[in-house]
Amino acid sequence: MRVRVDDDICAGHGVCVATCPEVFRLTADGFSEVLVDVVPAEHVEAARTAVEQCPEHAIEMEID
Ligand code: SF4
Repeated sequence: MRVRVDDDICAGHGVCVATCPEVFRLTADGFSEVLVDVVPAEHVEAARTAVEQCPEHAIEMEID
């Protein structure tokens, strides 16, 4: 699984970071960035929840 945040849509709510801090973090500018190339298996469920709960639908998910 891979995830990507659309910088044009992300509004920096941080829901993704709160849900899955192993995969997302907020930058100094207050937007989300993805920390990993491929989401480790143990974090896939949390990353999927982050995708579903992002208020802006800014996170794209690609399943390998
Ligand atoms: S939850 Fe969505 S809008 Fe909020 S920081 Fe994460 S990607 Fe950006």
